[in-house]
Amino acid sequence: MSHVLHRAARAKPPTAVRAQGLVIEDKEGRRYLDASGGAAVSCLGHGHPRVVEAVRHQAGTLAFAHTGFFTSEPAEQLADLLIGQAPAGIDQVYFTCGGSESVEAALKLARQYFVETGQPQRRHFIARRQSYHGNTLGALAVGGNMWRREPYAPLLMEAHHVAPCFAYRFKEEAESEEAYGARLADELEAKIRELGPETVAAFVAETVVGATAGAVPPVAGYFRRVREVCDRHGVLLILDEVMSGMGRTGTLHACEQEGIAPDIMTIAKGLGAGYQPIGAVLFSRRIMEALLAGSGAFMHGHTYNGHPVACAAGVAVLETLREENLLENVRAMGELMQSRLDARLGQNPHVGDIRGRGLFRAVELVADRESKACFDPALKLNARIKAEAMQRGLMVYPMGGTVDGRQGDHVLLAPPFIVGPSDVETIVERLGEAV
Ligand code: PMP
Repeated sequence: MSHVLHRAARAKPPTAVRAQGLVIEDKEGRRYLDASGGAAVSCLGHGHPRVVEAVRHQAGTLAFAHTGFFTSEPAEQLADLLIGQAPAGIDQVYFTCGGSESVEAALKLARQYFVETGQPQRRHFIARRQSYHGNTLGALAVGGNMWRREPYAPLLMEAHHVAPCFAYRFKEEAESEEAYGARLADELEAKIRELGPETVAAFVAETVVGATAGAVPPVAGYFRRVREVCDRHGVLLILDEVMSGMGRTGTLHACEQEGIAPDIMTIAKGLGAGYQPIGAVLFSRRIMEALLAGSGAFMHGHTYNGHPVACAAGVAVLETLREENLLENVRAMGELMQSRLDARLGQNPHVGDIRGRGLFRAVELVADRESKACFDPALKLNARIKAEAMQRGLMVYPMGGTVDGRQGDHVLLAPPFIVGPSDVETIVERLGEAV
């Protein structure tokens, strides 16, 4: 038996030994085309020489300098690069070790902001039912994936949940998109009023819903209304772009496409691109000024935060995205992938929807195309499709999520941004066979 506790505790996965470009190879010499970027992580593909060299160089120059004593050049440089491209009003960065910790830090930052500004009673968080924000206890509390939460209930902090915004079948039939977005923003406002606006700290949402629902964009106008509701009640808006950020949807941040800026934003995954574990919380000057005028410190901090090698990897990733013009490829290959998926799977009686933005796409599986009824969760359909795909040398990211009490299956595609047209063909063909 392996001494490593694997994700599926009873089954040892293949042993990965090397990777280059789009392909990971295991110990038996089997090769897997990485169509999921792991879990939407590897945005540059594997073994990118520029990032490898940046990591090697930094490890040999200054591998670690505790942030209680020092800052480092890579951390300062990465913060400058991020702020130079951040949504309006955002001008501070706090580095973390990954996505969950970024969400955790975002929640704490929101709470501390209100403590520093004399509103300690603002402690409630509102989030959305169909969402994933990470595996730490605070992130689980705002997350809406019930089966992940259940084993740990009661959670240390309870959050309140409203409906997510799905730009597809979960809206009521006769409703226009505009009316749907407005109804959900009204629901958020009603929840704020019910709790008492003076007690609410923040609303937390993924800009494009990732792991629990499969690359679901919001309807146009929804986030603008959400922004107005938050502003009306002095509630902070936290956008979680751990999965949808860093270019995945075709712009550096997914919220650029919604025409709004959050007060706090979380990123991770693509920032380290798989080369280093790193995440970040980006936040507004207003929050920073409150910290400076108050206690003068953010009461957070993990030993490895702001790690120089991780920050050097982040700098190389951001520079590569720009210099290789990769976001343009994300948009072009994303469109191609959507049209090839539509052609290959659009008529399948068990495909309910194919959707997404950029290289963040998902195929949803349904028992019945007309009613969109979900498959029995006991079938573990998404896990079986993953296994079928692995046998065909293809990595896809499977998820089953609970949508307002219903189980759903989908398969997420989030390949590195270096994919070309023939890779897209191969991915779609192998996935088609697996389905
Ligand atoms: N937020 C979102 C939107 C995510 O998709 C994830 C990871 N799937 C996380 C947070 C947690 O990130 P990590 O796994 O790096 O802790």
